[in-house]
Amino acid sequence: MAGERQFRGPIDLHAHSSVSDGTETPSQLVRAASAAGLGTVALTDHDSTAGWHEAAAAARTAGITLIPGMEFSTRVSSASVHLLAYLFDPSDAGIVAETARVRQARLVRAEEMVERIGVDYALTWDDVLAQTTPDATVGRPHIADALVAQGFALTRSEAFAGILHWESGYYQPHYAPDLLRAVGLVVAAGGVPVIAHPATRGAGDVIPEARLARLVEAGLFGLELEHRENKTAAKARLYSLATKYGLVVTGSSDYHGEGKPNRLGENTTTPEVLDRILQQATGSEPVFG
Ligand code: AMP
Ligand code: ZN
Ligand code: FE
Ligand code: FE
Repeated sequence: MAGERQFRGPIDLHAHSSVSDGTETPSQLVRAASAAGLGTVALTDHDSTAGWHEAAAAARTAGITLIPGMEFSTRVSSASVHLLAYLFDPSDAGIVAETARVRQARLVRAEEMVERIGVDYALTWDDVLAQTTPDATVGRPHIADALVAQGFALTRSEAFAGILHWESGYYQPHYAPDLLRAVGLVVAAGGVPVIAHPATRGAGDVIPEARLARLVEAGLFGLELEHRENKTAAKARLYSLATKYGLVVTGSSDYHGEGKPNRLGENTTTPEVLDRILQQATGSEPVFG
């Protein structure tokens, strides 16, 4: 019931720390969320839960509610699809094994991309390592930061628009589990799966209704439709499918600190939706700071 809610708004359910490709440590991120006026923030690093512990301690100190989460890299055939997973058991064997496999694949892929880039630009793997924290989930943002440090781009975004673009010739994909299987893994670990920014591709979407119906059967719980990268027409189509299949709709910033324009709280999730997520989750507890 509304009166029994332990968390406060505004609620932002998607943010990254330096455990993956955000520029702030988990504690700095939690403090930034509090300073931005948020009452609840989810930490959703790519393919890693390594920041949960530090973020929880910071949330208790800052007096903000933390929803432990992750952004799971998955695939639908060759397309990359991100799956937000909330409140699952971080020690679940299936999740632990699969995220380790993805992190390792991301590392090999980043090294291969740097090798290709190195043919045309004086960029080395050490330059990239200098931009990552130990055990971080490595991604293109770290390569972007190295390109900026070496003077080959002015900002992360410029690097993404050029050298790191998927059509640049330097791009390389990495292994990720099939989306349907990833939904199953999250559910089996007591978590709540929500597809991240599902409408970024416009009309040629990778989630036609038949696929969505199968994902819902497997336990898909929601769609992150309020996100700056979703395109209007695809978003409208998914709003009506969310209603038809009883999916929750979330809104979030996808904050990465400096280096991406997204600001904390630029999109938010309603308390009613967070209530439903909390009721569904059995894998871990929120931290009520
Ligand atoms: P990757 O997963 O390695 O292919 O890299 C893509 C990730 O980079 C996504 O999670 C983006 O959110 C993130 N990212 C961080 N900063 C930027 C930026 N300035 N432009 C585009 N993507 C970015
Ligand atoms: Zn990211
Ligand atoms: Fe994403
Ligand atoms: Fe993200």
